[in-house]
Amino acid sequence: MDIHELIKKISNPNIHILEFREHTKASEKYVDVVFSYPEYKLEWHGSIPYYYRRTGTFIETVDDLASLIERAYQSVNHKNSSEWIKTELKLWNEEYTGKRVTKPFFEALSSMKWTCVEHALPRNPNWARRIQDIKEMGYSLATENRTCSKCNKSTTHLLLIPLEKGAETGYEIFSNKLKKRIIKVLGSHNAFEGKPTNPASLIPDHKFPEISWDENTKVENPDDMTDEQIKTVEDMLKKDLAEKLKVEEVEVKLKKGGE
Ligand SMILES: [Zn+2]
Repeated sequence: MDIHELIKKISNPNIHILEFREHTKASEKYVDVVFSYPEYKLEWHGSIPYYYRRTGTFIETVDDLASLIERAYQSVNHKNSSEWIKTELKLWNEEYTGKRVTKPFFEALSSMKWTCVEHALPRNPNWARRIQDIKEMGYSLATENRTCSKCNKSTTHLLLIPLEKGAETGYEIFSNKLKKRIIKVLGSHNAFEGKPTNPASLIPDHKFPEISWDENTKVENPDDMTDEQIKTVEDMLKKDLAEKLKVEEVEVKLKKGGE
């Protein structure tokens, strides 16, 4: 996408587009913006994620991106964002009560300002897992290395963006690009029919077998995962399927024996 074309599409003079930015490790893409709100004498320096697997946002055209940014401008508006965060915090208190470990992390981000992960998050060696949890709940978070005035160095900062939540997935969503590549690397092999079929009718299934997961085991499937990694996941899924079939077979036998 061309930044100048994007700027041309934005009609609101209080929206300033700075640049495109990529968080390669998480395969996230943002556009950095400054939103001005003259009525509150406020400025918001933020990033709008437009390629963000956790909520299944994969924007590919300038028109769609411009409309996302215009919507974000309204959401970030002081009045709307304070209502938004109030509603969300209420949800954490009343509904997400099982998320006791993650909650203080959400609260640390609830200022909706760039938050330094080194000093401003609760002490927890597995903070990245907690942040992932928040993303999987459908929240939009941006990541950037910024100079922290308290730590006196460049640190990872996170920003909670008051956008409408995406569907709660519990897992990440493959981008179309990665989907196509998985199908190609695995030779369009249809796991149900046990033979290659028309790639257009195939959908890659998810990643590591859940049976081998625990609370802290989560695997990223970034767009730049290697062909080898894709094949390793396929091997694990095959083993997992064989294991499941064995269990089912035993169950069927037990049932027959019992009849
Ligand atoms: Zn800091």
